[in-house]
Amino acid sequence: MKRSWIKEVWRLVVLLLAALLTGLLVGQVLWLLLIAVTAYLVWHIRNLYELERWLSGKHKGYPGERGGLWGDVNDALYQMHRRNNKRKKRLSSILSRFRKSTDAMPDATVVLDEQGNIEWWNRESKRIFGLKSSLDAGQPLANLVRTPEFVEFMRSGGSQERIEMVSPVDEDIHLSVRIIPYGNKQRLLVARDITRLHQLEQMRQDFIANVSHELRTPITVISGYLEALADEPVDTPPVEWKKTLTVMQKQSQRMEDIVRDLLLLTRLETESQTLREQHVNVSALLDMVRDNAMVLGHNQQQVTLEMDRTLYLKGSHDELYSVFSNLVNNAVRYTPEDGLIDLSWYQKDGKAIFSVRDSGIGIAAHNIVRLTERFYRVDVGRSRDSGGTGLGLAIVKHILNRHQAELGIKSTPGKGSTFLVEFPAARTREVDDENQRT
Ligand code: ADP
Repeated sequence: MKRSWIKEVWRLVVLLLAALLTGLLVGQVLWLLLIAVTAYLVWHIRNLYELERWLSGKHKGYPGERGGLWGDVNDALYQMHRRNNKRKKRLSSILSRFRKSTDAMPDATVVLDEQGNIEWWNRESKRIFGLKSSLDAGQPLANLVRTPEFVEFMRSGGSQERIEMVSPVDEDIHLSVRIIPYGNKQRLLVARDITRLHQLEQMRQDFIANVSHELRTPITVISGYLEALADEPVDTPPVEWKKTLTVMQKQSQRMEDIVRDLLLLTRLETESQTLREQHVNVSALLDMVRDNAMVLGHNQQQVTLEMDRTLYLKGSHDELYSVFSNLVNNAVRYTPEDGLIDLSWYQKDGKAIFSVRDSGIGIAAHNIVRLTERFYRVDVGRSRDSGGTGLGLAIVKHILNRHQAELGIKSTPGKGSTFLVEFPAARTREVDDENQRT
């Protein structure tokens, strides 16, 4: 650039000198200087004019004059323009590749800004959320998808890991939706079509429910006959059958228990939205649970009960009874005869806590994570002998989920276990008058 500047200065000096000399020769110095300066200005303006036409896109190709200062300026601008064009082409090809790949994705993907407004979406989002026209861009997604649980999910910023919901445009489509934060406070909403999975789950639930229903009647009939036979006088049936009858009776009772628990589990799964909310007097309920547990353990263990009698809970009375009795009965069944069982019901940091501590056989750490699975038992023989179905803790987990409560298990093999249930503060209620029940 420096060289062209020197050249340009020389060009001006030579022009002015030529004008000066010619002016001296013809005796019109000022006029000739004026003509020379004007010609110089016109030349610059012409180059500027051409550059402006090129910049504004009216003139294609190379921008005007070559050589000299203008040549350098035009060259530099032209190169910059070509580089930008190349970059633009590369970027738009990356963008179009990115769009094609996200369009090919089986999941619906919506890019949201900080306020939850739609910035961009892929093809699957059109099918699942009904996003179509460019009018949808910039709108809050919660205005277009008005399903209450989705609106709440968006409001909470997707704090819950994922939610399941039906598509707002087709209620036969079931979705699993999650929000992933990224970049500068942007969020990516990903929705997966889980209709097939949902149908399979539905089929599984229906199958269990149907089988359990079908089995209930024959089992009840068999149990009834066995009971009648066992109650007959000593000779009919023959004495040697008595033992067999007792075993058969025990097994049919087991089958009845399993069917009852399976039906309860199915009901809990299918009635996921309809929890019967009552104000439950938990201490009265626990008195009952403790008394029944003592009978189950033939009064062999020492059971203590410490309760905050003013602490009530909002939830289903029968379901909560099922939770407490399952946990307490387990403590009795897995604790030796001279063992200790401590039950407590109290409030901590606003939350309501129920804990069952026993000095029983305990559970090894690797088993603890699987205890709430259906039919998972650490010791199958022991569970069966004590009348277990292997479904108790699965039922407990389901009911606790319905009450937004959490189950914690701590245990040391050979020393004992503690089962701790934590109910959220929103479900607690303090009632001063002990006799008050709602
Ligand atoms: P089960 O009918 O077999 O007791 P649950 O679902 O209630 O089924 O419990 C699952 C398993 O967890 C039990 O089989 C037992 O091995 C273990 N378990 C539950 N509670 C206790 C406890 N208090 N102490 C030791 N083991 C326990």
